[in-house]
Amino acid sequence: MVPSRRLLLKHLAFRAGTIAPLGGLISTAPDGTVEVGWPEVVMRARRLAAGLLARGLRAGERVGTLAFNDHRHADAYFAVPCLGATLHPINVRWNLQETSTVLEHTRDRILFVDAGLMTRGLELAATCPWIEYIVRFGPPLDDEPDNPRPDTLEIIDHETLLDAAEPIAAWPDLEEDALMGMCSTSGTTGIPKTVAYSHRTTCLQTMALGLTDCMRLSGRDTVLAIVPMFHALGWCFPYACGMLGAGLVLPHRDLRPERILDLITDHGVTTSVAVPTVWNAVLAALDANPGRWNLDHVDRVVSGGAAPTEGMIRRFRDEHGVEVIHSWGMTEINPVGTMSPAATTREEAGFEPDRRLRHQTVAGRPLPGLAVEIVDEEGLPLPHDGTTTGRLLVSGWWVAEDYAFDHPDGDRFGPDGRLDTGDVASIDDRGRMAIRDRAKDMIKSGGEWISSLALERAIGDFPEIEGCAVVGRPDDRWGERPVVFASLHEGASLDVETVRDRLDHDFESWQRPDELLIIDSIPLTSTGKIDKKTLRAGLRT
Ligand code: ADP
Repeated sequence: MVPSRRLLLKHLAFRAGTIAPLGGLISTAPDGTVEVGWPEVVMRARRLAAGLLARGLRAGERVGTLAFNDHRHADAYFAVPCLGATLHPINVRWNLQETSTVLEHTRDRILFVDAGLMTRGLELAATCPWIEYIVRFGPPLDDEPDNPRPDTLEIIDHETLLDAAEPIAAWPDLEEDALMGMCSTSGTTGIPKTVAYSHRTTCLQTMALGLTDCMRLSGRDTVLAIVPMFHALGWCFPYACGMLGAGLVLPHRDLRPERILDLITDHGVTTSVAVPTVWNAVLAALDANPGRWNLDHVDRVVSGGAAPTEGMIRRFRDEHGVEVIHSWGMTEINPVGTMSPAATTREEAGFEPDRRLRHQTVAGRPLPGLAVEIVDEEGLPLPHDGTTTGRLLVSGWWVAEDYAFDHPDGDRFGPDGRLDTGDVASIDDRGRMAIRDRAKDMIKSGGEWISSLALERAIGDFPEIEGCAVVGRPDDRWGERPVVFASLHEGASLDVETVRDRLDHDFESWQRPDELLIIDSIPLTSTGKIDKKTLRAGLRT
């Protein structure tokens, strides 16, 4: 195939440099907020490319990052894949052992490390002798450890690396199946799984993000990228903004809701992407500080990675004029699978606001290029009637074919290209998919299934609740029974009888929890999802 016809990131990610020279990145790291115009983003990527080539970067090798969302991380996002190497953003919240276990497989020789994470970077260099270079993002912190460094390790300042080299003149031509990136799941249900993305899959995913009926993203937007760049390629937003010329605000490490709201106000953010726990915290901060922030320019936000409650979507709409676009995705699918704006078709645009809101509470339609279906235990197709639930299979343009390295769950990738997502879902006659639960989180009581997610979404909207999670407790008589863990707003109280009474309308008696455990806060995973592994372990002790 002629190179210019191949789906290569270099053909779309640098478009903003020409079409939106006045726009760019706003990067808010602790060493200073900087604005980097799109033409400069392009030039910095070329400089970094030259610096990496001077360090012997080879096509196909993995280049790790241990960093937060900032402009230097964006440099690596653009330069490494376009040179033909594989960008490997590492979850900064993993411990040393988890990180070095992944590095055993990926063997990154060059590691970009945020100045605030140098202790971990140096520990890794001591454990993983194949690391030859640490490129530090930002000036060294006063407390940077001075522990002995391997002789083979060179530490380079990122800006020095950029300044030392003449920018490369042109990006190489690659095959579109070349691997551009590699990310691991957050490990919500077990050992993290590593997935590789190609130029082809990432280009297609990025193009789909730019569709109007996805999230109405355009070059007129300013996007606050809250979702970490180490999680599922930052949901490809750096590339989508580079393609469209949208402004991109990078918040670095401090993601307290008050700071998020300051960034939204100060930089005229029009849209943003995060998990529901972040959006719930933002709502609580807005409640606690009426009138402090101006959200007039925020048109819609994307909530993905876990299920939002209806109350959260409604409150954003009614109290702040913001549409919540619900999204479902997985690391295994590059990662966005569905988006659920309030209305996409002409028919839906004419629906009553509350009917449209109900569409936002479900995960929604697969993006063009993807297909979803539901099957029973034998793998037979189930009807798309909006109520029948079954195992969710997904197939299409950016669904991975396998994990990058052996994993016990590798058998969920079918030879026919269908991935068993591990989720249980229903699909309606207009193609809208609703996640009912993760299969591993469903509770089997007296031979019948109870959806932990349905209970969480209902209880999560009680006014007393700050956060809640439902897990199954082993039970001699019923097999399992649902237990609610809840953290309450200050001064609130709640008992299990009240919970059961309020659920009376939507749940049968046997589906309702018979135990409520009040805790200070709901434990979250490194990507802000409910950490049910920890809650279940607590039940056993
Ligand atoms: P992990 O499985 O470790 O959390 P991922 O971040 O890849 O790793 O998570 C993908 C999973 O997250 C999905 O299979 C699904 O269970 C859950 N998920 C993602 N989006 C949603 C959503 N909108 N509603 C409910 N669950 C979701």
